[in-house]
Amino acid sequence: MSRHAVEITDLTKTFGGRRKLFGRQASEVRAVRGISLALERGETLGIVGESGSGKSTLARMLAGLERPSSGIMLIDGKPWEQLAAKGASAFGRTIQYVFQDPVASLNPRKTIDEILDVPLRLLCGYDHTRRASRKKELLDAVQMPLGTLERFPHEFSGGQAQRIAIARALAAEASILILDEPVSALDVSVQAQVLLLLQQLRDDLGLTYLFISHDLAVVESISDRVAVMYLGEIVEAGPAARLFAEPQHDYTRTLIASAPRLAIRKPHEPA
Ligand code: ADP
Ligand code: MG
Repeated sequence: MSRHAVEITDLTKTFGGRRKLFGRQASEVRAVRGISLALERGETLGIVGESGSGKSTLARMLAGLERPSSGIMLIDGKPWEQLAAKGASAFGRTIQYVFQDPVASLNPRKTIDEILDVPLRLLCGYDHTRRASRKKELLDAVQMPLGTLERFPHEFSGGQAQRIAIARALAAEASILILDEPVSALDVSVQAQVLLLLQQLRDDLGLTYLFISHDLAVVESISDRVAVMYLGEIVEAGPAARLFAEPQHDYTRTLIASAPRLAIRKPHEPA
């Protein structure tokens, strides 16, 4: 087994440019411009950068939602094409994606029972009895009561809905989670609770996270290592503590200088 959960080499994604739009050449957007990075098993890599820097495009390529224009993506040591060729079930049992807006990411017409049922049925192929017991375990893991199952997404707060979305992402027992601004839509006090839950789940289940946020404090609180993205490139990467204490790149310094003083700390750090 490869030491790395994910290994990316010179990955690029360019949108548009080829087709003509209303008779004019649509301009190209080079959203991701030659990124290389690796995630060790059990590691949390934070990706930070302002809006439009290409964070979601990178995440969507990793999650199989967007095709790279060029470059290599290895997942568990194998090319992603090989995993994708095995079908959605193999992909979904390896990598899951958690979106920013939890309520919008849950189908409003389905109960939570039906929402959690989908991956257990389609990705895992579990029978009714096994699905029922897994749903209980999943709600337990995200600290939601069993009564959650009969309810609809709109009946929950943002923080509760994100817990449910996390339960859904855990359903297929994927070991790699792509978390794209998972707490950005939540109130600050709720953010801290969801971050704590994500840390517990990672440690209990040995998960590997790619954790994306435009918020430095949030990224610092959860990441082992951090990569800073700017205009589709990684301009700086390193251990979280070092990167924030001794930023090397001008852009990182600007980001840190413009961020509000870090309010969220790791549990072992004094307030
Ligand atoms: P971030 O998540 O850091 O805010 P994105 O990856 O969403 O950045 O976007 C990076 C750039 O790519 C932006 O200029 C955005 O407008 C562009 N982009 C993203 N998705 C598409 C798309 N489907 N079609 C065209 N341009 C896109
Ligand atoms: Mg984004």
